[in-house]
Amino acid sequence: MKPNQNKKYSLPVLLYHRIVNKNSVVGNHKIYVWEKDFEKQLLFLKDSGYETITFFDLQQNPKMDLTKKVIITFDDGYEDNYRLLFPLLKKYNFKAVIYLVTHLNFNAWGVREGEPRVEMMTDVQKKEMSDYGIEMGGHTRSHVDLSRLEEAEMINEIRGCREDVERITNKKVISFAYPFGGINDDVKKITREGGYTYAVSTNTGPKEFGVDNFQIRRIEVTPKTTLRSFKNKVSGFYFYPSFIKSFFTGKQTK
Ligand SMILES: [Zn+2]
Repeated sequence: MKPNQNKKYSLPVLLYHRIVNKNSVVGNHKIYVWEKDFEKQLLFLKDSGYETITFFDLQQNPKMDLTKKVIITFDDGYEDNYRLLFPLLKKYNFKAVIYLVTHLNFNAWGVREGEPRVEMMTDVQKKEMSDYGIEMGGHTRSHVDLSRLEEAEMINEIRGCREDVERITNKKVISFAYPFGGINDDVKKITREGGYTYAVSTNTGPKEFGVDNFQIRRIEVTPKTTLRSFKNKVSGFYFYPSFIKSFFTGKQTK
């Protein structure tokens, strides 16, 4: 898409969960992308001169030019992130941000809804990826909808998770992802007070990056995302669809 006067560029923050390469591990929740599709997406970014950045990078250089930049995020911390994502990131010299659930070693909340059981990465794997330059962030201790919790439980899930991840990576943890996109003003306040500098949501929050650092909107990439659609998602103008697209879908975002 070509930028025009009325559209404001916004740093794209992508949301992924799992990378898979065989049918048997795929569930009903469309929270995976195929390894070969993901590699095509990385190739497109590389060929187009994109640079992947993390929240650490942004914090160190808040005035950086955000054009041709993208933040790739992965929620939950699945073992395929180590096995399939990590080699591809190394191959293309890219970075990502991974949001970890620290008191579960598999997707217990998904299994309750009939999803296949998927193991999480081990602490040793998390540390190795962190040392490489992949940012590890918090995603609560037990993957709960924070907007339903009492304050003391919220603090335990948010601040406690930060302390867990810092213990694993031996680095300061600055960013957080709200499970299920469960957000309200109390949740945001406790996240800020819990020692984080940035927090990402799913598909809520201002369309423009930088307006609310505690409700940063992400763009989800799913198994249905075509390469053409991916290009749109990383364009920086995704939230301003073309006339044709808005004519057919009748809405601004998916
Ligand atoms: Zn999650």
